Amino acid sequence: MISQIHPIPAFRDNYIWTLIGDDGANACVVDPGDPAPVREFLDSRGLALSDILITHHHHDHTGGLVDLIGRYQPRVYGPAGIAGVAETLGEGSRVAVLGVEFSVFEVPGHTLDHIAYFHDGSAHEGPLLFCGDTLFAAGCGRLFEGSPAQMLASLRKVSALPPATAVYCTHEYTLANLAFAVAADPDNPTLRSRVESEEEKREQGRPTLPSTLDLELATNPFLRCGEAALAASATKRLGRPVTDETEVFAAIRKWKDQF
Ligand code: ZN
Ligand code: FE
Repeated sequence: MISQIHPIPAFRDNYIWTLIGDDGANACVVDPGDPAPVREFLDSRGLALSDILITHHHHDHTGGLVDLIGRYQPRVYGPAGIAGVAETLGEGSRVAVLGVEFSVFEVPGHTLDHIAYFHDGSAHEGPLLFCGDTLFAAGCGRLFEGSPAQMLASLRKVSALPPATAVYCTHEYTLANLAFAVAADPDNPTLRSRVESEEEKREQGRPTLPSTLDLELATNPFLRCGEAALAASATKRLGRPVTDETEVFAAIRKWKDQF
C-alpha cells in the first residue's frame, strides 16, 4: 500500500514524485533528475529508497540515478538504454513497488523510449498514473523524437484510462499551458473556471498536480483534438480546412511551440 505521495521540487519546475509505503520505512521515487533534494527528503524522514521508476531518458528525469544507486542500492526500473536502469520495461510489463502493482504503457512522442506507469487503485485511494513528460496539466510534452501521430496515439491510450485517474506529471507548467489552452479552445467554460482554481493554488504556493484525467479530458486541448472547437482553431491557424484529428493535433502542438 501507499501511505503518501509527496512532490519533491527540483530544478525550476520539476516534481520528483515520492511514494511512501505504509510501513513508513521505504520509499520509491519517480524520475529523480537531481539527487540532492531526494537525499535531503529521505534522510530527514529516515526513509530507505527501495525503488526508482524512470519514464524516459532525459537528464532532468535521470540525472540523480548514479548518486542515488550508490547511496541506497534501490531496484531501478525503466525503459531500455538508460545507464543505471537494471530492469527494463515495455508495453504490458508489470512492476510491483512497495507492494503496489503498476502496469506499463509505451507512450512514444516526447521521446521514443517514453513509458508511463498506471496503478488501478486497489492499493491506494484510486487509480493513478505517472506519465512523465507525456501528458501535462492542460498540455502535453514537446515532440522531441516522435511524430504527431505517435504522440496522439499515446495520448489516446492515456485517455482510455478510468476518468478518476490521478495524473502525476513531472513539470509544473500548468499556468502557461492554460494560457495557451484558452487561446486554442476559447469558448470552453470548464477551461475558464479551471484557470481561476489553478491560479489560486499557485498563489498559495501549492502544486497544481496531480490533476485528474476527467479534468484533462474536459480542458486539455491535446486530448480534445477530435472536438469541433479545436478543429476550428487549427483551421484558423493554418488558413485552410483541417478536420483530420492527427492534423489538428499537429497544428495545435506546433502553435504551442511558438506561443
Ligand atoms: Zn523530458
Ligand atoms: Fe522533463
